Amino acid sequence: MSYKFAVFGNPIKQSKSPQIHQQFAAQFDMLIEYERLLSTDDMFDDDLQHFFSSGGLGCNVTAPFKERAFAACDDLTVAAKRACATNTILRRSDGTLLGHNSDGVGLVKDIVVNKQVPMSGSNIMILGAGGATRGILEPIISEQPAHLTIANRTIAKARQLAIEFRDLYAVEVTPIEQPEYQVAPDILINATSASLSASLPVSDSRLIGNQTLCYDLSYKIEPTAFLQWASDNGATRCYDGKGMLVEQAANSFELWTNRQPATAESIKWLENLTV
Ligand code: NDP
Repeated sequence: MSYKFAVFGNPIKQSKSPQIHQQFAAQFDMLIEYERLLSTDDMFDDDLQHFFSSGGLGCNVTAPFKERAFAACDDLTVAAKRACATNTILRRSDGTLLGHNSDGVGLVKDIVVNKQVPMSGSNIMILGAGGATRGILEPIISEQPAHLTIANRTIAKARQLAIEFRDLYAVEVTPIEQPEYQVAPDILINATSASLSASLPVSDSRLIGNQTLCYDLSYKIEPTAFLQWASDNGATRCYDGKGMLVEQAANSFELWTNRQPATAESIKWLENLTV
């Protein structure tokens, strides 16, 4: 029996999800189909419905459809509700769609387990206040950091997130151009989209202390502009979002199949790609 999965996005041909999920399936001798499906704003709801009515068991959803996927689901996990976005959908046995968001779980697992850097009791600064930050906040807060600050260009968006999450944590807010902080963060996370245009979201090099782990949610073959800047300013632990990508995929795979795949080989495979 072969299980049918897919990832929806636009663009989508760059996605490495099919290979990653095939690597996971091979660990359990499972046969799966996993397709890249290009969609459009006009067609997304129809495309999603067609996928599930033709036997799809689960799908991933990437930009720009995560909010549309959120709205299309019958039920949502806590992670999806907090994120207000869905990157994973499961068709349950009664035909209803469960929406989940595995991005934050993936990030936390990559930093805490793979990179062996605790978030508990640490001082964390997130750059950016868009959809990715909304998705990672609840899992980070669950780790109980000592301080959590959001720095953003449009300060109102950072304030809005702090209000939305104040039942869980007193998130601090600061302007990204002149961030205010007591000491350099233990973990500095770039969740802006600046790396996509090779621009730098911050210029204050004092944000990088001796021990600061610098993490960019974006990833490329070569270091992102943020990670290059961090390394030029003395950061010794710099990571991009490839580990997060694989870990969020593993979390999706587990929701669909009840099997928890090992991730180290897939991360190594992704890091060794040259195109
Ligand atoms: P959004 O468009 O929702 O938000 C973008 C954010 O970046 C905003 O806070 C925006 O600030 C800020 N920003 C953009 N350009 C600059 C700049 N030049 N200087 C400073 N701030 C800037 O994007 P998302 O939150 O959805 O995505 C952010 C990144 O996360 C993307 O690169 C995406 O690829 C990555 N990502 C990676 C994942 C993984 O698995 N590795 C999973 C999910 C996302 P303002 O509010 O002022 O406009």
